[in-house]
Order: sequence, then structure tokens, then C-alpha cells
Amino acid sequence: MIYPSPCPREVAVIGGGPTGLMAAETVAAAGHRVTIYERMPSPGRKLLMAGRGGLNLTHSEPLDHFLARYSEAAPWVAPILDDFPPNALIAWCEALGQPTFIGSSGRVFPKAMKASPLLRAWLTRLGSFGARLVTRARWTARDPDGTIHFADGTTQRPDATILALGGASWPRLGADGSWTAVLPGVAIAPLRPANCGFAVAWSASFRTRHAGTPLKRIALHHQDRTIRGEAMVTEAGLEGGAIYALSAPLRDAIAHDGTTTLTIDLRPDIAEPELTRRLAAPRGRASLSSHLKRHAILSPVAIGLLQEALHQGNTTTLPRLIKAVPVTLTAPFSLDRAISTAGGLALDELDARLMLKRHPGLFAAGEMLDWEAPTGGYLLTACLATGRAVGHGAVAWLASR
Ligand SMILES: Cc1cc2nc3c(=O)[nH]c(=O)nc-3n(C[C@H](O)[C@H](O)[C@H](O)COP(=O)(O)OP(=O)(O)OC[C@H]3O[C@@H](n4cnc5c(N)ncnc54)[C@H](O)[C@@H]3O)c2cc1C
Repeated sequence: MIYPSPCPREVAVIGGGPTGLMAAETVAAAGHRVTIYERMPSPGRKLLMAGRGGLNLTHSEPLDHFLARYSEAAPWVAPILDDFPPNALIAWCEALGQPTFIGSSGRVFPKAMKASPLLRAWLTRLGSFGARLVTRARWTARDPDGTIHFADGTTQRPDATILALGGASWPRLGADGSWTAVLPGVAIAPLRPANCGFAVAWSASFRTRHAGTPLKRIALHHQDRTIRGEAMVTEAGLEGGAIYALSAPLRDAIAHDGTTTLTIDLRPDIAEPELTRRLAAPRGRASLSSHLKRHAILSPVAIGLLQEALHQGNTTTLPRLIKAVPVTLTAPFSLDRAISTAGGLALDELDARLMLKRHPGLFAAGEMLDWEAPTGGYLLTACLATGRAVGHGAVAWLASR
């Protein structure tokens, strides 16, 4: 629904990802004239990529659990999510003709299991609200008087500008973090990989035999946290859902200590005494691998991990090693391979309307801000909720002038 503003103003939204599109929808619905500037030939490329994994929009868990996923940023994001909680996001998605469902893990997806129908319907709605989309428009600077500059030399002088430039993962999809050089005098926490894999110095034989193999039904322990799930062995290390879930503390521990040790429980459903009993069976002439396979029901890649530890001189008993095989992680995979970005524009640079305190008329939202969250729909939920909040913030600021 568009509410004609008694005094329509020009608002530029820079970045055509989910945050920018939601900001544009909110500002256009308030009756202002909105132009979305997107550097790529089309908007929403990362959203479409997220759709390849089914487009996990949000999560159905209770709101207090949901909020805790944002760690230190939880108090900051709480009022924003109060205004646009997961059920409002679901209603918004369904109003765009995309029914949703809750998966067995509690994650929420559109029934289409992809982003393209949602994005199409959304762009149509934005067009019907009068929002304009300008593609291949790379923003490069903003003057103190509000003039914005583009790479082709053109300029515009909107009444307010909303930045929704994203982080720096998967830069070929558009967001490359180059905005960090364009905001002088603004505190920006270094951009770091989040929801990423980690490097492990596998032996050549382990790498050759097991790269590309999943470790299924495992539990990962790091510090005081345990995550059940799957991980993928790659040439360079480990990645996948359970690793991503621990990636923030793993990354921070490596930054602090140089390396960190993850322990993997290869049979989380069997207690150590039971493994001891099973493995006490006479081995006869069977190889260690066959014995482990037969009595502990371990996959070849799990047996390979145990052998890596044994070759490194680990003297723990086999049942205990199966319950806690140590793997040393030496570095996070690079930011351009991460699902998302940690760091970004410091939250205390923004007022309650998400306007930069030292740059009146300039607003920011989405993944470019300094918050992080695990996968599970928490990223898109916060992007959409902050996109809506920044839209309301810009409308309120324009009304106050
Ligand atoms: C493979 C993958 C799968 C994912 N799956 C999920 C998922 O299932 N669920 C979930 O919650 N999250 C998922 N995410 C994360 C989610 O897609 C992002 O958090 C979200 O897209 C960030 O939205 P944003 O609008 O802030 O930034 P972006 O989506 O990155 O959009 C920023 C836009 O700004 C444009 N831009 C950048 N600089 C300029 C400039 N100077 N001038 C003009 N335009 C510019 C970019 O081209 C881009 O279009 C996934 C991410 C990846 C990579």
C-alpha cells in the first residue's frame, strides 16, 4: 500500500540486495520517490545464490533463542527484530505470493525453494510503488552536501541516501567491500569471513583419499560449544554446516592463538564404554581399518581421521579418540569463499534511525554493518529487518526537516 506523502522527496538507495530492496519498498510505500542504484547488471544476485540452497529465510524458534544468535549485536538488533520479527517476514513473503514451510530443523523456506519467484514479485511490487532501478551504477562517493557520485562520472543530489552495500563475501555477486574506502572518518571494524571453512594441514594420503567426502552424523566440540551435524572434508580443510555454526569462535580463537583445535566425536550416539566393549572383540588378522569399520561402524573418512591422529603420535585409546579426535585448524578460508562477512560499519556510528551520526541524511543497513550471525535464516532476517528499519528511519528524518 502506498501512502502519498504530503511532501514527496528524492531518496537514493545504493545496493540492490535484499536490504536495499526492503529499504526502497518502505520508503516508496511512504510516498517518496526512490531510485535504487545497483552496480551489477541486475539486482539481488546474492539473494538468488542463497536461493540455490533453498533460500532459508528465517527460523521458527522462540524469539529469545533467535535473538541470541546475534551474540554481542543482540541488544542492538532486538528492537529492530521486534518491529519485524520472523512471523512478519513470513507474512511479507507470503503476501508476495510465495508460501513458506518450516523444515524439520525449524528453518523456514519458501515452498518454491528458490529466490527467483520472490525476487520477481518483489521487483514488480517496487515498480508499482514507482521505485526506479538503475543498474550498472557504481556509487563512489558522497559529498557533505549530499551529492552522490558514480563511477561513470554522473552525480545526483537526493534528499536522503541509504547505503545497503553488503559485505565482501562472494565478490563476483556484487558486494566487494570497496565501500570501506569511501566513508572517511567513519569507524569500520575489519571485514572478516563468517560462516566459513577452515584450513587443516592434511597429510597427502588423507587429502588424496578423502577430499570431497562428507563426515556425517558427527558432533563438533570447541571450547564450551557442541554442534551436531555434518562437515565436508576438502583439499584444504573442513567446511559445511556444523563448521559454519562454530566459525565465529573458531576464527576468533585462531586470531588470538594462531591455531585452534576442534575435536570431533565420530560416533556421538555411542558412549565411550560401549565403544570400548565393541572394540575389545578379537581382531584376529583383520586390519585396524576393518576392525574399526566392523565394530565401531565408522566410514572410511572417519577411519582416515583417526589414522591422521595416530600418525601424528596421538596415544589416546581408540574408543576415546573416536569420541574426540582432535583436528588443528590453522586459518579461516578466505573472505571471498565465506557465506557472510563479520565486521563492517560500527553500530555506534548510527543513531536510532540508522543514520550516520556524523553524516546527516546518510543511512546504512544490512550486512555492511558490524554484526554477524550463523546460517539458519538469521542473516536474511536481519538484512530485511534492518532494511525496513532504515527505510522508516529515513522517512522519519525527512518528515522532521
Ligand atoms: C552462497 C550463499 C548462500 C546464502 N544463503 C543464505 C540463506 O539461505 N539464508 C540467509 O539468511 N542468508 C544466506 N546468505 C547470506 C545472504 O544472502 C546475505 O546476508 C544477504 O544477501 C545480504 O544482503 P545485503 O542486501 O545486505 O547485501 P547484498 O545481498 O550483498 O547486496 C548488496 C548489493 O549492493 C551492491 N553494491 C555493492 N557496492 C556497490 C556500489 N559501490 N554501488 C552500487 N551498488 C553496490 C552489490 O552489487 C549488491 O547487489 C547466503 C550467502 C551466500 C553467499
